[in-house]
Amino acid sequence: MDIRLHNTLTREKETFSPQNPQRVTMYVCGPTVWSYAHIGNARPPVAFDVLFRLLRARYGANHVVYAANITDVDDKIIGAAAETGKPIAEITALYERIYREDMSALGVIEPTFRPHATEHVAGMIEIIETLVEKGHAYEGQNGVLFHVPSMTDYGKLSGRTRDDMVAGARVEIDGGKRDPADFALWKAAKPGEPPEARWPSPWGEGRPGWHIECSAMAKAVLGETLDIHAGGLDLIFPHHENEIAQSECAHGKPMANYWLHNGFLSMDSEKMSKSLGNVKLVHDLLKEWDGETLRLALMSGHYRQPLDFTASLLTQSKATLDRLYNALRRMDVEADEVGAPQGVVAALSDDLNTPLALAELSALATEANKAEPFEWPRLKGQMLAAGALLGLLQRDPEDWARGDASEAERIDALVAGRVAARKAKDFAEADRIRKELAAEGIEIMDGPEGSTWRRV
Ligand code: AMP
Ligand code: ZN
Repeated sequence: MDIRLHNTLTREKETFSPQNPQRVTMYVCGPTVWSYAHIGNARPPVAFDVLFRLLRARYGANHVVYAANITDVDDKIIGAAAETGKPIAEITALYERIYREDMSALGVIEPTFRPHATEHVAGMIEIIETLVEKGHAYEGQNGVLFHVPSMTDYGKLSGRTRDDMVAGARVEIDGGKRDPADFALWKAAKPGEPPEARWPSPWGEGRPGWHIECSAMAKAVLGETLDIHAGGLDLIFPHHENEIAQSECAHGKPMANYWLHNGFLSMDSEKMSKSLGNVKLVHDLLKEWDGETLRLALMSGHYRQPLDFTASLLTQSKATLDRLYNALRRMDVEADEVGAPQGVVAALSDDLNTPLALAELSALATEANKAEPFEWPRLKGQMLAAGALLGLLQRDPEDWARGDASEAERIDALVAGRVAARKAKDFAEADRIRKELAAEGIEIMDGPEGSTWRRV
């Protein structure tokens, strides 16, 4: 079955055709590891993990090469190091580890490569040298700049006009800029910047600009032309536009054939932002919700559409998984080894239509709940295969149910603690426990036989 993907470059849904079906390549811009990832940051890794799984199913697991980089040097990281007094490498190692644990909890398969920017500085310098030689870049007062007017089709990804691009840019303040749209390839070291954030170069000590790292890493681990390059919508301009400018002017060939971008996640209809105080970290959400529930919530909308992340979306996602796992649990038989059902494959092959794929999976559970036992091995096999393609349902259904049981045990223990506090006439403690449970939506009911609880 053909895979069709919406290509930002052509603004059309196109049939995906890799350059070499034995080595399908995909690159997704990864995180800057200076702090915890919020749930919006998890949207690209989860959306493109589904694509990775689909491509592996279609071309074979060993024939898909996926790189997601780690940005381990930039202004925010340097700032965090200065603020905490810790070495840069300590901060980046810590937040990279947390990021990988968080993504793994969301069922994200480890990409084939996780290149680090600081390990590819030589490759970046090489591309910048080529750009200077070819007349696409020049040395300014504060480093090396890409000269935007030197590229005739600059702006083709975002469709921005020259007026859009230079609006607000001030030529005179940025030393030696020849055009307001020109952007930094190499930034000369500033006094006070730490020694770990500077590298020698033909233009003196400094560090790479933001965009050049992806051009160098993508080339080093995947090649000069990628099949797929993806990331969040906010990266189309300037990041991806500038990656295209650098790579295409240096190599004389397309940087990627298919450009995919996910829509933004909002929190209760508001833009997630630190100043609004509605930023939810994956790390914190995982204390309250199973990673699989968060994953399903992220997949509940189409990846290109905005997604509103709400408490009711999480409750619904949890209920959906309970229902799916219960259907699996009821079919107490060995599952057949079967492929994922056509409906699920077709939905995902149509530009990763996860809402439709989930509806197909749900219909399968309905069928399973009504089926005769002789049909169970096939239906169970189909549900598990669909789940594997979506990155869901791979846990032992008994375990999933026990997850609930341990939750019940925790609440039982709190209720028992409250009964004991009341007996000891510690009413303040009894009240504190009641309030704590009420905040979780749990009501305690006191009766002659003791106390019980229910969710309200
Ligand atoms: P950053 O670490 O800020 O560079 O972001 C890492 C990735 O998360 C980028 O691909 C962004 O496009 C993506 N991203 C950031 N915020 C959101 C959001 N609210 N919704 C969806 N994607 C986001
Ligand atoms: Zn990038």
